[in-house]
Formats: sequence, C-alpha cells, structure tokens
Amino acid sequence: MHNILVTGGAGYVGSHACKALSKAGYRPIAYDNLSFGHEWAAQWGPLERGDILDRSRLDEVLKRYTPLAVMHFAAFAYVGESVVDPGKYYRNNMAGSLTLLEAMRDRNVDTIIFSSTCATYGIPESVPIREDAPQRPINPYGASKLMVERMIQDFAAAHALKFALLRYFNASGADPDNQIGEDHDPETHLIPLALDAAAGRRANLTIFGSDYDTPDGTCIRDYIHVTDLAAAHICALETLTKDGRLSAAYNLGNGLGASVSDVIEATQRVTGLAVPVVRGARRPGDPAVLITDSTKARDELGWVPGITDLSEIIATAWAWHQRQWPRKPA
Ligand code: UDP
Repeated sequence: MHNILVTGGAGYVGSHACKALSKAGYRPIAYDNLSFGHEWAAQWGPLERGDILDRSRLDEVLKRYTPLAVMHFAAFAYVGESVVDPGKYYRNNMAGSLTLLEAMRDRNVDTIIFSSTCATYGIPESVPIREDAPQRPINPYGASKLMVERMIQDFAAAHALKFALLRYFNASGADPDNQIGEDHDPETHLIPLALDAAAGRRANLTIFGSDYDTPDGTCIRDYIHVTDLAAAHICALETLTKDGRLSAAYNLGNGLGASVSDVIEATQRVTGLAVPVVRGARRPGDPAVLITDSTKARDELGWVPGITDLSEIIATAWAWHQRQWPRKPA
C-alpha cells in the first residue's frame, strides 16, 4: 500500500482527503502541527505532529514513510488576518511550502498536489473563471498561495516534479457519513455561521453587503462540497501517477452560483429554523461574483462532483453541526 503524506491532514479539507485516500487504497500520513487541525480529524492513518517550517522533522517523516506523493494543505487561510499580519502568511504558507519542496526534492518525492485557491485570481475580469484568467491576488493570503504555485512550477522545471495546483472555490459541507466536518476557531465562513445563527449559537448573521450588482444584491459564490474537493485530489494523484505530463492547474467548483440570500434561504429550509439576519456593510476585498468553469478538471482528471445541490451541501453541514453541538432539550 502506498503512503501519501498529507500536510494539514488534521484540518478541514485535509482530513476529508485522508478519508478519500484510505477509501481509494492508500495510506494517508497526516502531518499537522495541530495549530488549527484536530487530533480527532486524523482517523485514517498515523498522525505525525510537525510543522512545515521544521525541515528536520519533515526529513524524519519523509524518511520513515517514503511517500509516493505529497498532498499539501497546511496553510493559514484567514484573508482578513493576512492583511493585518502578512508576515505570518508569507512565513507559514510561502516559506513553509519552500521548506517542504526542498525536503521533497532531497528525498526524491516527485509528486505534489497543492491546495490552492480562487483567491489567486483576485477580482475577475469575467465569470465563469477559467484557469488561464489573470492571477492578480488582492490580499497576502492569495499572494502567498500564488507564490507557492510559481515555486512548484519552477521546481517542476528544474527537478522533474509532477504537480497539480487545485484552485478551490468555496469549500463547504461535511463528510456525508458525519465522521468529520468543518471546525474553525474563529469561524468566518458563511454556511457554518448561518447554521450557528439558526441553532441559536449566535444572535444573528450579518450579510456583508446588499448593494452588489447581482440579482438580489448579495455576493454570489461557487460552493463546492468538501468530499468532491477530496475526490479531485484522488483523481489528480491517479492522473499524475499515470502521466506526469498532465501537471497543471485546475479550478474546482460546481459552476453554479449561490448568493448569500440563497444560502440563508436554503439554511432555513434544511434546518426548519429561522436565520436572524442583520444587513451590514460590504466586507473589503469581496468580489461580487466568483464562479468557476471546471471543464478542465472534468476533462483531464475525470472529476465529477457528486453533491452539487446547495440544500444537500448544507444538509451535510447541518448534520455535522448537530453532532458537534447537540441542542439541549427545551
Ligand atoms: N458572508 C456574509 N456574512 C458572513 C460571512 C460571509 O455575508 O458572516 C459572505 C461573504 O461576504 C461572501 C460569502 O458570504 O460573499 C462567502 O464568504 P465566506 O467567508 O464563506 O467565503 P469566501 O468567499 O470569503 O471564501
């Protein structure tokens, strides 16, 4: 059985990738410093505590497991924080990835699947966004991810590294078996916050801007189920193992836009509870519409998203939410 090193394997998307790897017959080795990851999320293989900036720890783990490939999720991902503390993001996301790439190069691990983001595109000139759209990130988080994409391509040219740069749109939902799910502290994402408001764990949900140039005035995003993101990593791994010439960037989304109001309505339908809302100001840096064209991932990786309906996505997140925070009987 092949080992796959999963940095950030105890985090949200990383843990779902570990489960998918295990189902596909691989042994995931979760490498995580547990700064945001959770020990309970690493259920499908060993958990190796370590930081991506720690070269000797990485060397030790690569030597021990000789992985076939690395799936690289470990990163800080709060856009707002990256603006006020850019050094933290460049150090961890960029310097940490460089440390990982050098460790891989020196141990002859020749395949990387990188967790990138639509934030590398910045404000799109047009939607749906394709992979060849200009990448002009508007915050240090997106910039740090774009720099890693560039480093990976340079390492590929120099050291025959095979790679997939997977640019996620809005990761959402939870494992349909309800074993793992989203658990961020602080939570900033729309769907878990809407569920918190529905369940009474917070007083209300603030809608960040109702005056966008969209049909209902709220921002439109492309919500993609976390299990489908995980599946794309397996498709990429298998494609690269067969043919490294397919090394490329792939956008991952459903190509279906949902507005903030759509998400709120669907949350109310799924939970049967009201979501109290407050209309607030726009959040700086939010483009009005982010929707992708994922034809390339479908055609070249054979990726077919399975949970595309917004209510179905929210239903998996709601099941997980209820497992984490069961409501006390009245
Ligand atoms: N959003 C909102 N209220 C919140 C959190 C998010 O209105 O409390 C909006 C946000 O402006 C964006 C969408 O919901 O248009 C998705 O935001 P999220 O932070 O979940 O993901 P992002 O698009 O930033 O990756």
